[in-house]
Order: sequence, then C-alpha cells, then structure tokens
Amino acid sequence: PFEVLVIGGGPAGVAASIYTARKGFRTAIAAERMGGQLNDTLGIENLPGTAYTEGPRLAADLKAQVDSNGIEIFNLAQAVRLEPAAEAGGLATVHFAGGGALKARSVILATGARWRTLGVPGEAEYRNKGVAYCPHCDGPLFKGKRVAVIGGGNSGVEAAIDLAGIVKHVTLVEYDNVLRADAVLQDKLRSMANVEIVTSAQTTEVLGDSDRVNGMVLRDRDSGDERRIELEGVFVQIGLVPNTEWLAESGLELSQHGEIVNDIAGRTNLPGVFAAGDATTVPYKQIVVAMGSGSKAALAAFDYIIRTAPA
Ligand code: FAD
Repeated sequence: PFEVLVIGGGPAGVAASIYTARKGFRTAIAAERMGGQLNDTLGIENLPGTAYTEGPRLAADLKAQVDSNGIEIFNLAQAVRLEPAAEAGGLATVHFAGGGALKARSVILATGARWRTLGVPGEAEYRNKGVAYCPHCDGPLFKGKRVAVIGGGNSGVEAAIDLAGIVKHVTLVEYDNVLRADAVLQDKLRSMANVEIVTSAQTTEVLGDSDRVNGMVLRDRDSGDERRIELEGVFVQIGLVPNTEWLAESGLELSQHGEIVNDIAGRTNLPGVFAAGDATTVPYKQIVVAMGSGSKAALAAFDYIIRTAPA
C-alpha cells in the first residue's frame, strides 16, 4: 500500500503529492487526466512568480516535478468509489473504473470541478476566443471591450460588477424573471453606469467571425422575440460543479453544492482522508489557491501519519 494516495492530478493534487513525497512518504497520484483544468486554459497571468505561462505548459512543468520526486502516476484512472479505513490508522481503498483498486494509509481528494456550460451553438467553438468562464483570470483581456455575463446568481452578478470596472460595457443576462444574487450585490450592480440587466432572456447562440466572438443572440422568453447583441466577450457564470459524484456513498461530508467539506488544514470528517482545491468548500477557485490548499492537506496528512499508529 501507499502511505499517501492523491486522487486528481491538477494543481491541488500535484502540490499535495510533492509535499508528501518530500517528506519521504511513498506517494501516488491517480487521475483521469493529469493537469486537470490546466489542459483547457490558455494564458495564465495571475500565478505569482510566473508573469506569463499557458495551461498546458504549466501542466507539463508540474508533471516534470512529480516525476523528479519519484511519485508514482496512474493516469487515465477514474476513481469510482472510496472505501474509508474502518478505524483511524487503517487502510483506505479507492476503487477505479475497470475494476482495479489502490490502498493507502491516507488519501488526499483533489478531483477539482468543471464549469457548467450553456450548451448552445458557438460556445464550444469560441471557448478561449471570447467565451470565458473565469472573470478573475480573463477579465483584463477584455479591457475597453463589450461583454455579456450569463447568469444572475451571486457569481454572475459578482462577475458583472468586477468586469464593469474593467470593460466598456456589460450586459448581464438572466434566464429567470428576477436576479437571484444577494440584494446588496444587485444594488451595487444597478448603480453602475455601464451595465444593462436583461431578465427572462435565453441565450440561444454565440456568434463569431470564425476567429473571435462578435455577438450573441438572446431570445425574450415572454415574447419569443430574438435580438442580436454585438460584443467581444461572453462570460458564462451558471455554476461550477465539483467532481464529487463518486464520493456520495463514502460517508464523506459534502456541502449542499456537492463540495467536500474540509477544515482549514484540509481534514475531512473521515480519519486519514484530506481534500484540497476546487472540489472542496475552499472559497475562490484559483490555481494558487488550489496549490496552497494542496500543500496544506499534504502537511495535515503528514501530521496524521506520524501521530497515528497503523491499525
Ligand atoms: P482540477 O484542475 O480540476 O483537477 C482535477 C483533477 O482530478 C484532474 O486531474 C481530473 O482529471 C481529476 N479527476 C476528476 N474526477 C476524477 C475521478 N473520479 N477519478 C480520478 N481523477 C479525477 N485559475 C487561475 O488561477 N488563473 C487562470 O488564469 C485560470 N484560468 C482558467 C481558465 C479556464 C478555461 C478554466 C476552466 C479554469 C481556469 N482557472 C484559472 C481555474 C483553475 O484552473 C482551477 O482553479 C484549478 O485547476 C483547480 O485545481 P484542482 O487541482 O483543484 O482541480
């Protein structure tokens, strides 16, 4: 068995594995896709110490660091079930699609999250060419331009407020007939001069010139009328879904949004099971946050292993 088994090979899982390997612990990473969301990311400009990199390049750098620390990798391994240790100090088992299983004294869960997509024509085609999901990451790329934010919940309205300070004009689009964000956020948004709020509106298509986004089509859900809006960017803010469906039966505590509930050091409610990154309740889903939480969870796993006698 391993001393530490990390599930997930994104920034959180990689950071965790480097820390435990450097403690001399026999560490493995099992991941569906090494690199995680980095594989889908173009420019990264908010990782302190690295003025500019690109997702696939950062993923390759992380992979090289994993290799040089002697960490075993099981890539293309989809975890389907966690069987926690019966008692503290015992072995946890993670089962994989296809029938295999790995055992470890501690498990660090770092399975990340995925953005909910609109599923309309043009969205996938213009991803990273005007269609964006992370205002903290990509907002500055739209300086002085016109954008829309799809989604009138807290994340959509926060994104619209954030973007309104950077871009020329923001159209906030909500499917329902009211915004669902907190009143204080709505008031702030309504006070901004360069924002238009459109409710009862369905986004039916993202338009472009084959290179970049140049507009979108909205359908009024009351009248059925369609209109075209000219713009350069579309931020989709209709939810971030944690990759935790496979943990539902494990006894692990999940939040109402399906996020793994962990404490400030990454400990979950199960002994020997830790969690980090976008899959957890950690606020602000960012690379540097995922790496920080991964290293915290790793140090908490180290603490657990040195203090708990093997069962
Ligand atoms: P992830 O990166 O999601 O990695 C999860 C890992 O778990 C993957 O290896 C995945 O294959 C694996 N996994 C999932 N389910 C299973 C399973 N059942 N079994 C085994 N393995 C599994 N953040 C920034 O800070 N700056 C940016 O510029 C930036 N730009 C972004 C652009 C885009 C397009 C996207 C999508 C995100 C961006 N982010 C950015 C956010 C950032 O990528 C995430 O916060 C970060 O990747 C989270 O790291 P993570 O390790 O928690 O999860």
